[in-house]
Amino acid sequence: MALPGARARGWAAAARATERRRRVEGTGRSPRPEPASQRAALYVHWPYCEKRCSYCNFNKYIPRGVEEAAMRRCLVTEAQTLLRLSGVRRVESVFFGGGTPSLASPHTVAAVLETVAQATYLPADSEVTLEANPTSAPGSRLAAFGAAGVNRLSIGLQSLDDTELRLLGRTHSASDALRTLAAARRLFPGRVSVDLMLGLPAQQVGPWLGQLQELLHHCDDHISLYQLSLERGTALFVQVQQGAVPAPDQELAAEMYQGGREVLRQAGFRQYEVSNFARNGALSTHNWTYWQCGQYLGVGPGAHGRFIPQGAGGHTREARIQTLEPDNWMKEVMLFGHGTRKRIPLGTLEMLEEVLAMGLRTDVGITHQHWQQFDPQLTLWDVFGASKEVKELLERGLLLLDHRGLRCSWKGLPVLDSLLLTLLPRLQEAWQQRTSSSVPGG
Ligand code: SF4
Repeated sequence: MALPGARARGWAAAARATERRRRVEGTGRSPRPEPASQRAALYVHWPYCEKRCSYCNFNKYIPRGVEEAAMRRCLVTEAQTLLRLSGVRRVESVFFGGGTPSLASPHTVAAVLETVAQATYLPADSEVTLEANPTSAPGSRLAAFGAAGVNRLSIGLQSLDDTELRLLGRTHSASDALRTLAAARRLFPGRVSVDLMLGLPAQQVGPWLGQLQELLHHCDDHISLYQLSLERGTALFVQVQQGAVPAPDQELAAEMYQGGREVLRQAGFRQYEVSNFARNGALSTHNWTYWQCGQYLGVGPGAHGRFIPQGAGGHTREARIQTLEPDNWMKEVMLFGHGTRKRIPLGTLEMLEEVLAMGLRTDVGITHQHWQQFDPQLTLWDVFGASKEVKELLERGLLLLDHRGLRCSWKGLPVLDSLLLTLLPRLQEAWQQRTSSSVPGG
């Protein structure tokens, strides 16, 4: 069995060789980037966890034992198949999410990266992120992931309060979280993100802001703030229903979010997306692809992707969803080379709706140039320029529409969902007007 370090060296060597070849082919000039239709991000889903967190309704499984070699073979096979189907020539980032991918062996991570580097161009400096849960002894394991090719960590810290961590059913303590964060920063300086949750039952604004301030003493250059969402079918939902735990308070959660954005702004963080904050330019390029509606391939049980299957002669972008349950997914991969359960072709209006809803999550919003890549005929001005309701949002200072494009203001970003209730119907109306006027006699 090859060691993770050897595997990663395999990936890095493959990436360097491709880079040299491209330079030679480009007669010394730096290589021209592939068109957007030949570029993609790659998401890899590791579906297993050690224990079910009380609030979690993600696609995860708590297995008695994991057949890791079989799982690895299937991840590799599906990555090969989807790369071939997509006709993608350059993978710009890889994200190992879950579940708990830090429970996978570094050897598995290395095998997937090596496959990607062999099948396509994976630049040596591509962002390769792994989601990791805090543990009591993080050091050597994180180092092994680094040797396997991971260069960015996203740590599910969630809280710095042991009582809250117990309520959430997490397996770690606050001191485990800080120990893991310190080890991660030593290994991946400038490339460590932490998740912090807000809006937990009984959580108060002051103490939560205190946690955030405390976190600022320990964190690196990226923080994600997530509001707890109470989901049916979770243990926490039942506890709240039975009155054992108070229901999360939405107004307090909104206050925490506002206070948190302010604290982070003062600490030099840019809120570049609704939930994400970075300083020193440490934005996640992988997630940026999602918000910009770039192509991405989703490998693993329940993974989602969005790409044009050009390698199979397709011309339309598709939403693809892989089979959820790991054993069924593995059977399908072994039979067909992939476990795609659903393929939904996306029309131009659906694409524009996504561009709008995803783009407005970011601080730059949607530029005119970006919008035109998806529809050169219908401009942002055509859609929103003459609408009375949109004008009202502009006047209330929630939205901006100018020479740069359309974006939320600082005040508008927290109420994006309510803005979309006005913007999406306006887009649909403009689309219908255009399509009916282009029908002869329409
Ligand atoms: S570790 Fe993450 S994916 Fe797993 S149960 Fe907890 S919240 Fe869900």
